[in-house]
Order: sequence, then structure tokens, then C-alpha cells
Amino acid sequence: MSDAAAAPEALAFRDLGLSDAVLAALTQVGYETPSPIQAATIPPLLAGRDVLGQAQTGTGKTAAFALPILARLNLSKTKPQALVLAPTRELAIQVAEAFQRYAAQMPGFHVLPIYGGQSYGPQLSGLKRGTHVVVGTPGRVIDHLERGSLDLSQLTTLVLDEADEMLRMGFIDDVEAVLKKTPPTRQIALFSATMPSQIKRIAQTHLRNPTEIAIKAKTTTAANIRQRYWFVSGLHKLDALTRILEAEPFEAMLVFMRTKQATEEIAQKLQARGFAAAAINGDIIQAQRERTIAQLKDGQIDILVATDVAARGLDVERISHVLNYDIPTDTEAYVHRIGRTGRAGRSGEAILFVAPREQRLLQAIERATRQPITQMQLPSVEAVNDRRVAKFTQRITDTLASDDLTAFRQLIEQYERERNVPAVEIAAALARLVQGKQPLLLQAAQRESRPLEKSRFEKPAKHEHQSARDHGTARGNEHPRPSRAEHDSPFRPRRDERPRQAEAGFETYRINVGNDHGVRPGNIVGAIANEAGLDAKHIGRIDIRDRYTLLDLPEGMPAETFLLLKTVRVAGQRLLISRMGDSTGSSDTFDKPPRKPPFKSASSERAAHKPKSFKPGGFDKPKRGPHKHPKAR
Ligand code: AMP
Repeated sequence: MSDAAAAPEALAFRDLGLSDAVLAALTQVGYETPSPIQAATIPPLLAGRDVLGQAQTGTGKTAAFALPILARLNLSKTKPQALVLAPTRELAIQVAEAFQRYAAQMPGFHVLPIYGGQSYGPQLSGLKRGTHVVVGTPGRVIDHLERGSLDLSQLTTLVLDEADEMLRMGFIDDVEAVLKKTPPTRQIALFSATMPSQIKRIAQTHLRNPTEIAIKAKTTTAANIRQRYWFVSGLHKLDALTRILEAEPFEAMLVFMRTKQATEEIAQKLQARGFAAAAINGDIIQAQRERTIAQLKDGQIDILVATDVAARGLDVERISHVLNYDIPTDTEAYVHRIGRTGRAGRSGEAILFVAPREQRLLQAIERATRQPITQMQLPSVEAVNDRRVAKFTQRITDTLASDDLTAFRQLIEQYERERNVPAVEIAAALARLVQGKQPLLLQAAQRESRPLEKSRFEKPAKHEHQSARDHGTARGNEHPRPSRAEHDSPFRPRRDERPRQAEAGFETYRINVGNDHGVRPGNIVGAIANEAGLDAKHIGRIDIRDRYTLLDLPEGMPAETFLLLKTVRVAGQRLLISRMGDSTGSSDTFDKPPRKPPFKSASSERAAHKPKSFKPGGFDKPKRGPHKHPKAR
């Protein structure tokens, strides 16, 4: 297994053999150096080899496969040359957008996302027009293969992105079915955050002598550095940074960004907010960089906004805080970054901003460094305002103590006498003048972190999997872990057949498939997430009983979605979804009286005209052949 962390430090994108068009786009997006997964993956993929990569979201894995695919494309061909399978429509769209960004200098390039829940029209016309890359969810890809609208005869690269997630969502049979429909000559890149046995089996069966990549990171963080994270919610990162800068006592702070452009942009915004900030990045010439660092050392500036490359080896004792504005792409970068504080035996503070999609990276960092990173709350509006007031009054005290105010005193006395205005009013007007346009106090209306998102994140998963109960109560968990149910009791049928109470913000639905139909939670999550256009994280508790399943979905499902879901087939059965308490759609009775009238006939008609192939059908026979059993799409 190659050790990506051992890639030479100075490796540049241009050393990897990428095309000029791709390199030009990378300059445009502002990436300085390849992330470890990119350095390790791009050369073998360019050489046509298969790759098995253990990498998570946030490591730069999308570019790791997209860049070599783009570099090898023949733009004059119109049949798809690369297919990326992704577990969710969100990821499919995100990956397609990344392709678009990296192909900005390749006129005529086409990428097409295809996923469940979207009408077939644009997908069919996109495929007909011709596309170089297709990014799709497994069910919908199979559907197009069966319709004959997707031609994989010219495929040179197949990417399985977040393979373990596809497994968890019940798509693994579909993935295998697609694999079998690709030409034997294609190369495969399989990425997975974890390597459960089913994924290993797929790799062993389908990959030919793959280059195996896992990031073995340098993992020692100093004990004198306190590490905290803030879960990005409620506030913009820039506002959050500003609050920290205002309310957290610090001497000098190093703020890490992913791109060169971002360092400039954030440094400028901080300057505009009155902070002594400057940017350093790989584009800034050495002399200027040294000047800036000298200014940081002697206190002319307090905040340095930097990229990893520019801050490499930086040794300034004054740096009391390192703030990871963008989460680093790997653990080693994190260790390097936070090592810029706590120098010369001092203590240091490391703060990490973590966006919802980056939770797994946080867990990876914690696991690798074997040091806890504790959740922090942002300083409150009151704390910020207390500091602002204290600073302002301190300025008054300092001015009173140090300056000769005789001339001003006379001026004020004269003003007071002539205009009969009390001195306190005059002082208030002068204070307003001094403060300028910036309001003295922060408005409490700026939203604080929302409790929902905090609790969603409160317990970094101790295990890769979560129980159904956790999945439901934590509600917002980024990645539900339904597959655990296959082994664990929470998903097993319950004797208790009474209806249950949904949590706040959720409604309980009943669907017509249960244990007797061999349904698994992953099948349900996959079908509902992709068909209803619902992020899997919003699917609450799933309670599979013998003949039916109860599941919690967010309140306010649009009528059309509801009707569409009724037609979806799982385990050979129509879902026949009904709201608990509704009298429609269910033969079973529930305790609650009907709550809502049946849906508007107009929507029913529209839904009735949805393409028949929304019938995702057949979760019934897990080992079924790919052709006869179209699945959730
Ligand atoms: P991914 O793991 O593909 O989801 O990428 C995570 C984030 O890292 C995305 O915002 C990318 O734009 C960014 N990124 C990817 N590669 C690099 C790089 N070499 N330098 C800086 N940022 C990168």
C-alpha cells in the first residue's frame, strides 16, 4: 500500500502529468498543491491503472479522480467516457459541478448528472445530445441502461464514489449490476471512507492489480495545544471568525484557508472590519512574505490569513491561536497547521470550523491524533458587546491619562455654555463620531447556532455505524447508518404494534413493506432520499415491523412528493405511503383519527402522469439479476 503522506512536500500539480487545460483551471480555482490523495491517485489513474482509495469527503478526492479523467478525455467523442456512481443526488450534483469547474478551460466539455426524483426529460435529452462524463445514482443509471438511453460501450473510466455509503443505502447490488455492464477494458477507481468486507469483495472481484491508497498521516499533536471545533451553523464563517477575534483573548492568530484567493479575500474583509490582518500565499513573492511575517512578529499585524504552503515552517512565538477556517484536506496538514502555535513551550489554541459535510473528517482527525477536539460555542452577542464596551471605555481612559486635552476641554466648555447642551450629550455625540459607521454593539438578532444542529453533531460517532434509534433521535445525522440494522436489534420487528409519537418537526408515515417482504432500512432510505428529493439526513426513525414500516419524515411533505412516493415500489410492493392518522392509503387502522383531507386532485393527476419507471420496485430478492429488477432510482 502506498503511503500518500510520503509524497514529496514540494510536489506541484504540474508534476503529475495533467493536461495544460486542467492546470489552467486549477490556477483559476486557486489550489496551490495537490492534497495527499490527489498526489497519490492522479499518476496511476493517468497511466490507466485501477485505484482503490480509502478517502473521505474533504480530502480532495473529487479532484483526485476528476482531474485525470478530464486530462484523458477525447472531446470529439460523444458517448460517455467516464461514469461516476455516487450514493445521493446531492453528491452527484456536487461532483458534476466539480467536473464543470475543473473543465473551465475545456470548451465543448459536457458532464451530465442523472439521479432519481428528477424527471427523465432533461436526462434523456442530455444523453442524446452527447456527454463526456455521467455522474449518477445507481438506481437511475440502471434505469437508463435498461431503457437503452445510456450507452457505456465507449467507457474508459468507472468511478465508485463513497462506495461504503452506497452499501449502507442498499445500492450495492445496483453497483455490481452497473459494473457488469461496463466494457472489461475500463479502469475503475473505487473510493470508500471505510472498507467493509462487501466493498473489499467488489474490489477483489472487479479491480485489476489496483494501486491501493490510504492516507497514513503524521499524527502527533502537542499536548500544550487545546483543540476545539465549531460546527458551522447559524452564522457565516466570517461572522463567526469575527466574533472569536473580538471576544477570545489572543495575541496573534493564524487563519488557514484552502485557496490563495480566499486568503486575500478574507484578509481584506477583516481589514475592513478593523482588524490588523494580512494574507500570505504561494503567489506572494518571498520578500513580501518575509516582510509580512516580520510585521506579525513585531505586532504590526495580529492576524495572518494563510494557505498551507505559505505557512509551512512558520515559527512565530506570538501566534497564540491557529484557526482552521477551512478544514484541512488531511490529518497531516491539520497537525502541521496547529503546530504553528504553542511554540517555545507556550500553550496554544487550535480552533477548527467544521461544516456539516465535513464531520467524518473531524472524526478522522480525532482518531488519528488520538486527542479529543471539543465542541466550542461561539462567543455570545453579550460577550462580544461587553468586550466592545470595555475596549471603548479603555480608549477613553487611556486618552484621559496620556494626552493634553486642554484645547479640547476649552472647546467643549464653550459649546456647553453657548448652546446650553449638557457635557454628557456632547460626549455622546463625540463618541458617535469616533465610532464612525461601524455600530458599537452587535445586534442580538444575528442568529446563534441552532440547537438542532448542535445536537446533531454532539456525539462524534464512536462507531462507523449508528443504531436506528440514534439515527432517529439525533435526527440530523449527516449520514444515517441503516445497515447496522441488518445485524442489530433496533431494526428488528417489534412486538409492539401500537402507533408511536413522532418527534417535534417530524411526522410518522406508514409504508406498505416490512420484514415479511425482506426490506432493509438502507432500501427505504435510498428510495425515499432519491425519489422524494430529501437529504438522507432528514429521514428520522425507521421502525420496520412485520407487514409494514413506520418512518419519520420532516413535516410538510409536498402533496406531489407524497403522491409520487405512493407509486414507488420497494420489495415488490408499492410503498402506499400514508400519514399516521390519515384514513387514506392504508388497510391497517391506527388509533388517531384522520387528520387531513385527501390531496388535491390536480396534484394527483400530475403525479399520476409521472413516468412509470419511478417504480423502483424490487428490493424483494437481494440476489436478483440486474435486468429483471429495477430498483430505487
Ligand atoms: P472533496 O474531498 O473532493 O469533497 O473536496 C473538499 C474540498 O477541498 C473542496 O471544497 C475542494 O474544492 C477542495 N480542494 C480539493 N483539492 C484541493 C487542493 N488541492 N487544494 C485546496 N483545496 C482543494
